[in-house]
Amino acid sequence: MLDEQNWSGTITYRASAIERPASVEAVQDLVARLPRVRALGTRHSFNDVADTDGVLIDMTGVPADLVPDAERSTISLGAGARYGLIAPAIDAAGLALHNMGSLPHISIGGAIATGTHGSGTALGSLSTAVTAMEFVDASGSIRRTAAGDASFPGLVLHLGRVGVVTRVTLAAEPSYEMRQDRFGPIPWSTFLANIASVFDAATSVCCFTGWDGQVRETLLKSRIPTDGPSLVVPDALLGAPRLPPTPASEHRTAVDGTAGPWWDRLPHFPITGTPSVGSEVQSEHFVPLRFAADALDALMSLHERIRPHLHVTELRTMAADDLWLSPSQGEPQLCIAFTWKKHPQAVQALLPDLEARLASFGGRPHWGKMSSLDGSAIAELYPRLPAFRDLIRALDPDQKFRSPFSERVLGC
Ligand SMILES: Cc1cc2nc3c(=O)[nH]c(=O)nc-3n(C[C@H](O)[C@H](O)[C@H](O)COP(=O)(O)OP(=O)(O)OC[C@H]3O[C@@H](n4cnc5c(N)ncnc54)[C@H](O)[C@@H]3O)c2cc1C
Repeated sequence: MLDEQNWSGTITYRASAIERPASVEAVQDLVARLPRVRALGTRHSFNDVADTDGVLIDMTGVPADLVPDAERSTISLGAGARYGLIAPAIDAAGLALHNMGSLPHISIGGAIATGTHGSGTALGSLSTAVTAMEFVDASGSIRRTAAGDASFPGLVLHLGRVGVVTRVTLAAEPSYEMRQDRFGPIPWSTFLANIASVFDAATSVCCFTGWDGQVRETLLKSRIPTDGPSLVVPDALLGAPRLPPTPASEHRTAVDGTAGPWWDRLPHFPITGTPSVGSEVQSEHFVPLRFAADALDALMSLHERIRPHLHVTELRTMAADDLWLSPSQGEPQLCIAFTWKKHPQAVQALLPDLEARLASFGGRPHWGKMSSLDGSAIAELYPRLPAFRDLIRALDPDQKFRSPFSERVLGC
């Protein structure tokens, strides 16, 4: 049996083999020849979304072949590229992405397949940057889709179910600089009463709590304007003082008020270091931003059961979009991300109660993290799921990209 696992070591892939092609043609050949396959990115998902009972195609060996296009404000690149490795080259071409996740180690293909996000009430998930996509379909042929095609919003955020994405075009903008500043504890009741203003305090805001009566720290990631009024970073946030600077280290990007390139401030972790805590599992749920205070209040009732297993909970925001399977489809969301100690069984046992507390707010799970929600719960949360299933039936009549996860959770 293949003994290969995801990054956290909590999922052992049931796939019979992992192939690592070095060209798009080799990907096409594998897909055409094998009866059941699925693309694999950098293995950072915490559930079996990337697994298959066939063969996994690891896309990280296909060259990135970055093509920046300043005139069209786009970049195009291979889907197996990692954000952190390619971002400096995008910057060197005078361009930038609108946002990044906390972890720059992940692949572009894996991030867009699952709706990976950073923070920012005006910033969509990383999937929303896609303007065009090329993928190998079930016959082994290359298909192209672009914004404006009727099925495009169904194809972009696809959980690996449409095929193997080889190349994407992403919206870009002129390169910019950012700075990070952190602020001290805010009492929970003050935070709940002022959530909107906290998340409006910077381009990208991340709040950390241990469910102990306070937000222990708030991180403001502020974009530095290139024209117009200069940036003013407050000395205090809801009475919480700005904390002393933390210089860049192996484990953190610089939180010291200095200006730096977008790619070195948007993620929390540098590509050169161990991501996050290193020994963990994660779950994350999204609730419409208008329910943020009520949803957090509802979760607080579980604090005694949460805390023994918790490293930290991070609260972020994400703009609305119209991608069919996006957790942010329809309206802006509060993102409630739990970094748990590596206690997967205890976390799995807690999730049904946690998810029950969020059910009345329409809490949607992160596609790449732990959840106990089954297909019927997911169907309630995603009105466009039937349209996605129709799309898949037409694209993949022999169910080459079907997997135990897609069957269980998406029903296709
Ligand atoms: C420490 C840590 C921090 C994280 N931080 C964040 C965060 O800040 N925000 C957030 O939203 N998430 C976060 N995540 C979750 C992570 O971003 C997602 O799980 C993401 O999908 C991982 O990308 P990957 O390349 O590892 O994909 P994998 O886990 O390898 O695959 C994920 C899915 O993408 C599909 N896929 C991958 N590549 C392709 C391709 N080329 N073509 C078709 N399908 C493909 C796979 O089939 C699978 O369905 C974090 C995870 C970790 C471990």
